[in-house]
Amino acid sequence: MERAKIRLHVEHPLGQGQAVPLTEAQAHYLFGVMRLAPGALVALFNGRDGEWSAKVERAAKRGGDLICQAQTAPQTTPPDLWLIFAPVKKARTDFIVEKAVELGVARLVPVQTEFTNSDRIRPDKQRLHAVEAAEQCGATFVPDVAGLVPLPKLLAGWDESRRILWADESLAGPAQVLSGLPPGPWAILIGPEGGFSAAEAARLRAAPFVTPVSLGPRILRAETAALAALVLWQTALGDWS
Ligand code: SAH
Repeated sequence: MERAKIRLHVEHPLGQGQAVPLTEAQAHYLFGVMRLAPGALVALFNGRDGEWSAKVERAAKRGGDLICQAQTAPQTTPPDLWLIFAPVKKARTDFIVEKAVELGVARLVPVQTEFTNSDRIRPDKQRLHAVEAAEQCGATFVPDVAGLVPLPKLLAGWDESRRILWADESLAGPAQVLSGLPPGPWAILIGPEGGFSAAEAARLRAAPFVTPVSLGPRILRAETAALAALVLWQTALGDWS
């Protein structure tokens, strides 16, 4: 079967013969920007029903309909890994979200720490970034983006069955290979450009569910640290191994 070149995330259910109405923005993109005509194929996913190839049935300026033809990929979900990160400058935060989706996470949790220098994060905007990244990388799942939560509150309400892999800059030194970590739900925690305060570090060090880790001999920028920690975890416990 001819393969669709465009992948689109939709909210609508997908299934054999299912008609999928387009939003105005989607119609504009498919017909105005990409110039698709009736009969063209588009790949659709909604995070629940896998990926479907769908044919353009009706193309209009402000809307249109697609009809699902066949499932082209099953629904898959990433490992149960969350990324907790302190928002940094907008472009760098966008980078963290995009790369986390590509590398595979189940949920994104922005956290406010003492030295977090950006308190403006829009979960709805970041969710759109996550959707775009999923469209581009072939994922059938889009992680949720939680609202910004202060670190003490996050830790106070933490379900201890989910372990935290804490990127602790004070351990910067010989790279640590992650082996012997127990399987199960995890979250990676990355700090802001200013790092963690002494009080935050003490609180994290005392928590039985927290495993501190070094990310090598150099101090990485927050977005590099997020990427490096995701790669390490995915290689040790995730769906890369
Ligand atoms: N200003 C701080 C560095 C912050 S780097 C300082 O000079 O110490 C931003 C975040 O990236 C850190 O909070 C930590 O979570 C992570 N990070 C960066 N380099 C790291 C390393 N070598 N080991 C572990 N974590 C690191």
